[in-house]
Amino acid sequence: MGASGHKKILIVEDEQDILQLLKHYLEKEGFRPVTAMSGLEALKKVKEDKPDLVVLDLMLPEMDGLEVCKRLRSVPDTAMLPILMLTAKAEESDTIVGLELGADDYVTKPFSPKALVARVKALLRRVERAPSTDPDLYRYDTLTMDLARHEVTIGTKEVPLTAKEFGLLEHLLRHRGRVLTREVLLNAVWGYDYYGTTRTVDVHIRRLKQKLPLLEEAIVSVKSLGYKLKDFDVSE
Ligand code: CA
Repeated sequence: MGASGHKKILIVEDEQDILQLLKHYLEKEGFRPVTAMSGLEALKKVKEDKPDLVVLDLMLPEMDGLEVCKRLRSVPDTAMLPILMLTAKAEESDTIVGLELGADDYVTKPFSPKALVARVKALLRRVERAPSTDPDLYRYDTLTMDLARHEVTIGTKEVPLTAKEFGLLEHLLRHRGRVLTREVLLNAVWGYDYYGTTRTVDVHIRRLKQKLPLLEEAIVSVKSLGYKLKDFDVSE
């Protein structure tokens, strides 16, 4: 089965040559590629085919990659879907916008298919590291979160957190390196029946940073979207 594990990859690219090249390479590596040639088709394919990862070109007809990314991130079902964006060098500023809108990584054109496949694999590994069941402990720098004891310590010093702060931190640690929208965090920590606004998340993130200054720089705000706890294991 190999490292790919027959994972389904949606390739969104309007240039037929690049599309076929990527499809060929991903197939060769044991992935199951599905394709789309426009932004709208991409959204449709995500719904129908439920891919494990999306390789998304930035410049697309009808709806560009940024808009596709934004739409995928704003729906709970696809908020966590790994997205690798393809950009051209001239679109450097768009690349940054793309990452702000929640792409997990990007590759600049022209690229070697081999390098792209390596990035796909790296991103899938990063996502899979998020445990499917709760571990007993999370460690982040000098911070330790002990779930059984419901305790957070910095070194040996315990830091008292409220239940919501604790839940928020747990979610960030569990999905570190990924962009989490305010909606996703709100649903995870407060529950779907909570009537508060997404501003609640901002308030609690601020309190969390005040209590745990080592997270001040580590939790980054992702413009108009949500938050991400930087993963220092991954070079970025
Ligand atoms: Ca294109």
